[in-house]
Amino acid sequence: MVESRTILIAGAGIGGLTAALALADRGFRVVVLEQATRLEPTGAGLQLSPNATRVLIGIGAAPKLSAVAVTPDVVRVRNAQGDDLARIPIGNAPQRYGAPYWVAHRGDLHSVLLELCATRPDIKLVLGARVDEYAVHANGVTVASAGPTVLGEFSGLVLIGADGVWSRVRARLFDDGPALAAGRTAWRTLLPAEAVAPEHRAPTVNLWLGRGAHLVHYPVRAGAMINLVAIAEDDEIVTGWSAPGLREEVLEHFPAHRWSATARDLLARPEQWLRWSLHGRPAARHWGRGPVTLLGDAVHPTLPFLAQGAAMAIEDAAVLADALARRPDAPQAALRDYESRRKARTAGIVRAARRNDLVYHLGQPAAALRDLAMRTIGGETVLARHDWVYEWQPPASFATPSPPTQGDGVG
Ligand SMILES: Cc1cc2nc3c(=O)[nH]c(=O)nc-3n(C[C@H](O)[C@H](O)[C@H](O)COP(=O)(O)OP(=O)(O)OC[C@H]3O[C@@H](n4cnc5c(N)ncnc54)[C@H](O)[C@@H]3O)c2cc1C
Repeated sequence: MVESRTILIAGAGIGGLTAALALADRGFRVVVLEQATRLEPTGAGLQLSPNATRVLIGIGAAPKLSAVAVTPDVVRVRNAQGDDLARIPIGNAPQRYGAPYWVAHRGDLHSVLLELCATRPDIKLVLGARVDEYAVHANGVTVASAGPTVLGEFSGLVLIGADGVWSRVRARLFDDGPALAAGRTAWRTLLPAEAVAPEHRAPTVNLWLGRGAHLVHYPVRAGAMINLVAIAEDDEIVTGWSAPGLREEVLEHFPAHRWSATARDLLARPEQWLRWSLHGRPAARHWGRGPVTLLGDAVHPTLPFLAQGAAMAIEDAAVLADALARRPDAPQAALRDYESRRKARTAGIVRAARRNDLVYHLGQPAAALRDLAMRTIGGETVLARHDWVYEWQPPASFATPSPPTQGDGVG
């Protein structure tokens, strides 16, 4: 029996929970099926640019999130030797884009979304429910949960596969094979702020570019922790988000003859790293069929070279909720509308992230030209080249009162 206006979501990640909140705000009942039996604040840092924070503010996440996020002043870009290339002034995002640029621990964002879901009687979160199969019928779709805790069936008007880069819903829809390894590994870790030099505690996103590797670090947890991500060309594949990584293997990709002592000193500090193989896919022609669609990494895994993976899942969630709210009596047409509104945007972001991959990891002599070009154009112009990413507006129903301004979240 399908309860009218019940939406099923596979996956309680960033995209799935944002969609649940946006749908509940628009009068839908939402059942979120999550394979994990416990949701812990896992992961490391995420950058949340104005196109994403606009949506997060619109679903009511700002008060809690701004208390744990950090609002950086600039993105400071350096080459591996430590020469300054550009300072991109993202601190003025509220004035320039009408929404802040935040950096946050993924676990903090996830916890805020979970807390908001818990206050909403229309959102039911079912843990230990791995979506495995579904059947389409005249009234919508029925999903079979394959455990590990919950075995059973759930029915709804539509099913949204927000089940991440290794999406089961996508496999069931299209059988188009797994996401492709990108030949890059990200090593992630967090350090207590007091364990690093004061210059690394400033509210700055630091980006270091080197041959075959780059390094990103910024404060999270209201400034209490420093998020470090080292990404390097590497063919070894691990699945999941929590495979352990070794300090020695990280340092091997950032050798002393190429990397400044400052960068290497930072990389040598953590004892524990987590490693995660990056995956991508060519842009999908189809995102769904009948009462089933996909959202976030399940449909457009995005390399983290533009810091837009989570932002795209958040944008998807806003557009999907708007599309279903506009046509609640024609949910399948609403899903096709959502897909057509998202395809070009997400394909453009995926391509731009790939281009950054090439530029970030250049060797000499091309790297010298890149460095010269960045120094010449300067941070303001680099920011202007990202306007098309950050100016994106969610549907009008997400409009909110004035957002928190710079400094609100910095501890
Ligand atoms: C544990 C974890 C840690 C991460 N850490 C980072 C990080 O440190 N930095 C970063 O930039 N990105 C990280 N990411 C990725 C980042 O969150 C996503 O790329 C981005 O937010 C897009 O979100 P999404 O909702 O599409 O997918 P995800 O956030 O990956 O969420 C997918 C969810 O679906 C669940 N799921 C998967 N298969 C099924 C199934 N068959 N049935 C039911 N549920 C299912 C997963 O358990 C997960 O909760 C992490 C993701 C996860 C899951």
